[in-house]
Amino acid sequence: MTRWLCALLAPIALLITPAWAGEAGTTAAFQRLRSDPWLLRQFMAEFPKGGDLHNHLDGSIYAENIIAWAAADGLCVEPASAQISAPPCTPPRVSMRDHAADSVNYRRMVDAYSVRNYERGPASGHDHVFDAFGLFIPGTLGRQPEMLREASNRRGAENTVYLELLQSWGMDKARALAAAEPGVFTLQASPAELARHPGLQRIVAETRAELDRIEARWRGLSRCGQPDAEPGCGVAVRYLAQVIRTFPPEQVHAQIALAFLLVNADARWVGLNLVAPEDDPNTLRNYREQLGMIGRMATVFPKVQVSLHAGEFAMGLVPPEDLRDHIRIALDVAGARRIGHGESIGIETNARQTLRDMATRGVLVEINLTSNAIIHDLQGERHPFLLYRKFGVPTALSADDEGVFRIDLTNEYVRAASTYPGLAYGDFKQLSRNGLAYGFLEGEPLLADTASGRFVPACAGERAGREPARAGCRALLAASPKARLQWDLETRFARFEAAPHAP
Ligand SMILES: [Zn+2]
Repeated sequence: MTRWLCALLAPIALLITPAWAGEAGTTAAFQRLRSDPWLLRQFMAEFPKGGDLHNHLDGSIYAENIIAWAAADGLCVEPASAQISAPPCTPPRVSMRDHAADSVNYRRMVDAYSVRNYERGPASGHDHVFDAFGLFIPGTLGRQPEMLREASNRRGAENTVYLELLQSWGMDKARALAAAEPGVFTLQASPAELARHPGLQRIVAETRAELDRIEARWRGLSRCGQPDAEPGCGVAVRYLAQVIRTFPPEQVHAQIALAFLLVNADARWVGLNLVAPEDDPNTLRNYREQLGMIGRMATVFPKVQVSLHAGEFAMGLVPPEDLRDHIRIALDVAGARRIGHGESIGIETNARQTLRDMATRGVLVEINLTSNAIIHDLQGERHPFLLYRKFGVPTALSADDEGVFRIDLTNEYVRAASTYPGLAYGDFKQLSRNGLAYGFLEGEPLLADTASGRFVPACAGERAGREPARAGCRALLAASPKARLQWDLETRFARFEAAPHAP
């Protein structure tokens, strides 16, 4: 048995009870406590969560930290708009340190950088949220290690195994490259040639080196590997190369090409995604072409996995013609393996066929309940979460922009449990397992089925938390990072279900 496996098994070896006994008891306890919001919160905070597959690093930061960093870094703020900017602090801009010292100013900034105290009014939830990013992002520059620390610690404290963070490292350089070399990053360009572009190759090398520095600093801040390591050190973190899609076409194409190169070159990047408002005129105009570019790059890098924000719409946000086919195009043109949001599925043309295809192909939807409620006022029965489930489309719960929304991942499990009484404890186990099984992390899976938790044949009959009896199972765990994390998750379930939960 390898050393990591010993370490994984030792603490819980004595706690293992027959899985069915614990699961049945926990199922009953969950039904008894779920109507009490605070018991439900406690339960879901401790409940093991496989992964968070839709989490923007910029949006995961709470405003209080951004203000503190901006003050410490000598940045400026424009009091009326709360816009953060670099020094010198020429009027009407003032020093953040001075401005934030006043508690009234302070609370106004927290409200501006998040949805705290937000009420639907002249500014829609959509506009308030997307505008907030522009206000606070200058305050996060140079603070990437601290941001990783915050995002991973919150997941670790919530008993989460895996985190896929969306981040745009290197994308500004790709855009600058396309702007400097017009006519290169066109739809007609050879994807193989773009992959060899020396400018992009240089950006890949620089971005990887930058991530080395960021991660080393984060692990130092979090004291990873030390006896007093922070909870985030125990979370497996990977990245999705995040393309900003509202820029001119060639700048978006260059970002897409960079994203493919990063994923291909470095195992820390496990996939790519397109972000920024889907209803932006530039996105609407170029959506099909942007996804066509993904399809073309995929001919050179077929193993690179794609998740897409698609169907992040509610009725009335855009003309009905734009609500027709974004999810369909994401599947057919870009070969998306996951869909983020997918709110507009019910108003797409031929939605039933699309839903059946998603179920057949195993395309997962990243469900962001709080985000959709705030941005599009889409919630409860009007949300298509249950529609996807009815058609057998895999789903997982994710946080999206938890700092802006003032939530955490636990909140999304609580929200699902209190909004949808038909979801039983076993459904939440499957949602949790899906958050890992559909992660783009490398390696063969341990689970053959996320509903039952059944293992693949190599590990059939083994019990998570005990040393695998069969060499084939040990070999799978040794070879596959995904299988190891799934083993870890099942071990956490065994531990969780061995504990009492009802009062
Ligand atoms: Zn998102």
